[in-house]
Amino acid sequence: MIEFTHVTKSYGRGAPAVSDLNLQIPGHKTTVIVGPSGCGKTTTLRMINRMLDPTSGTIEWDGRPLTSYGKTELRRSMGYVIQASGLFPHQTVAANIATVPRLMGWDSKRISRRVGELMELTELPPALAGRYPSELSGGQQQRVGVARGLAADPIVLLMDEPFSAVDPLVRAGLQDLVRGLQRDLDKTIVMITHDLDEAIGMGDMVAIMKQGGIQQVGPPAEILDAPANDFVRGFIGKDRGFRGLGFVPAKRLPLTAVDTTRSPGSATREAPVLVLDERGGPVGWVDARRPGHVLELGSVFDPDVDSLRIALDAALSSPVGRAVAVSGAASRYAGIVTVSDLLAALAAHRDELADERGGADSGATSAGRTSTGESPDAESPESPESGTEDTA
Ligand code: ADP
Ligand code: MG
Repeated sequence: MIEFTHVTKSYGRGAPAVSDLNLQIPGHKTTVIVGPSGCGKTTTLRMINRMLDPTSGTIEWDGRPLTSYGKTELRRSMGYVIQASGLFPHQTVAANIATVPRLMGWDSKRISRRVGELMELTELPPALAGRYPSELSGGQQQRVGVARGLAADPIVLLMDEPFSAVDPLVRAGLQDLVRGLQRDLDKTIVMITHDLDEAIGMGDMVAIMKQGGIQQVGPPAEILDAPANDFVRGFIGKDRGFRGLGFVPAKRLPLTAVDTTRSPGSATREAPVLVLDERGGPVGWVDARRPGHVLELGSVFDPDVDSLRIALDAALSSPVGRAVAVSGAASRYAGIVTVSDLLAALAAHRDELADERGGADSGATSAGRTSTGESPDAESPESPESGTEDTA
């Protein structure tokens, strides 16, 4: 864990870039710091590997003050990936990736083996090793940046807006890459972004910053469900309820049955009838008004892997208002849910969360939640209302 306690950083006169910041960054997880431009994100990140030192306050890593680690030791155990990759333009891809191992004096055999491993890990074709950064696409450059950050197998990976310069599709691929790396390599990742969707999609923990301080820290679902104050509420936007559905597993939905048929021409009943193919996969709905016609199925969901967000989309895209559940690799029909089933499941989930939070806040586990407290709610986590606001 990396722990900031009352950390302030001033660059000179004027308001400090970071002001009385308290933050606990858990090990072996991805923590995303998100906030508007100029709020102190980069300053915060650079204090973690001591590119900058605080003006006051302390930072500890696994219980030891950061100042007790040598700067070289920190650079080796903390990889750093920056915006627009920050590659050395006159060095090849391989030489860029080898930067830290070279500084550490590895022999050339070991370096070239490691470069090969990293290119494979970051899904870069080996043929690119001899190219220069300007001969790569933006996404490839960013992969090289990630490979360079991981070169000496650091414990911590610091990433400063690593994907902000690439287009959305490439960006999604890079986000997948980093999620996979975290899962497979078990790194502690601290990532900065100004994009809330990226924060919510990547972070196990999300810390929302404003003007040098932390407004709220927590798992993304908790932030969407219970924003601590008006700033957070404004920052996450009006569709937080819908986004929050993405964090509730569809597994909890009670499936019910509808009538099914394999020959749509013969069914003419009022109640919806689902048409299945010969392998039991759903294909559409009987059109009660035009015998023999089949209405679109809409999207489907798999309760074992999907969220309520996907299930709701399935219900909304269904011509008969029923979300069709499928299961297994063969996507066989498994049952249906209605929008009202969905809302009931969501209400039950919210109740459970509120209970959990009520329980957790009376113990010691709420320590990760800090706030500068814009609204009275933010300072009274034991208030039951703070978990169930639905007035916004
Ligand atoms: P962010 O990464 O959230 O955009 P920064 O941490 O880069 O924010 O900057 C926070 C504040 O500190 C800004 O007001 C910025 O202008 C100021 N700042 C950043 N770096 C320096 C510097 N080297 N000298 C003086 N002011 C700086
Ligand atoms: Mg920045």
